[in-house]
Amino acid sequence: MNTLEKKVALVTGSGSGIGKAVAILYAGKGASTIVSDIDEDGGMETVSIIKESGGEAIFIKADTSNPEDHKYMVAQILKTYGALHITCNNAGIGGPLGPTGEYPIEGWDKVISVNLSGVFYGLHYQIPAMLKSGGGSIVNIASILGMVGTKGSPAYVAAKHGVVGLTKAAALEYADKNIRINAVGPGYILTPLLTKALDEDTLKLLASMHPIGRLGTSEEVAELVYWLSISNSSFVTGSYYTVDGGYTAQ
Ligand code: NAP
Repeated sequence: MNTLEKKVALVTGSGSGIGKAVAILYAGKGASTIVSDIDEDGGMETVSIIKESGGEAIFIKADTSNPEDHKYMVAQILKTYGALHITCNNAGIGGPLGPTGEYPIEGWDKVISVNLSGVFYGLHYQIPAMLKSGGGSIVNIASILGMVGTKGSPAYVAAKHGVVGLTKAAALEYADKNIRINAVGPGYILTPLLTKALDEDTLKLLASMHPIGRLGTSEEVAELVYWLSISNSSFVTGSYYTVDGGYTAQ
């Protein structure tokens, strides 16, 4: 069923991993989909996959840690499609690993600017466009590390907790203006974010930390993001949902 027909949907960081799966699902459900990423090759590949299966998509290069890129992107979306109804603020990085007392200051600044400020800049420019479009739904990708901590990733944990808080604050402000804003907390998902940074043994260890006994897939996260994006979830706002194979139930 084309539940997103006539809808315009933006996914940041959709040249890879979770964002790519979300963009493909949105487009498969009929949305005009804006694929955005700092990585042009990855973004163009997602657009090609969508177009090959008969969907509508364009690519806009944007660095989500730069507010000007968000401003430009939203203006381009309104110019091209005349509206913005759905956004998945997904772009994020893992950042350096190390305990707080030794954590590099520039690593902290980078992770906070992409993973937290990037979501704020997105909301700042997306919300006025959505108000003009008659309302919409925004899904911010946080993490299980937006709910619990872990050793060795202080900036990531702080940024993702910040995303959950920002989601609640913004959701309250726009709840009666027909804009719903929710956050999703994936467990460890098998994407290049993990495979580029971690060896096989570490991936196995992470998998064993999920009661389901494996890592998640991008498509499993995309299903939850999609549900939060459509009118089936019309009474849901300001919430944080995990998709984590039971990780945070322990
Ligand atoms: P991924 O495969 O690395 O994809 C992220 C995409 O975002 C990449 O194409 C990346 O480009 C791009 N990107 C990085 N910095 C950007 C920026 N400043 N502006 C625009 N695009 C940027 O990662 P993923 O695993 O799908 O992660 C997506 C989101 O899920 C992130 O917010 C992440 O924190 C969150 N998450 C992931 C996991 C997991 O286990 N994978 C778990 C919980 C939450 P480059 O490749 O060039 O950097």
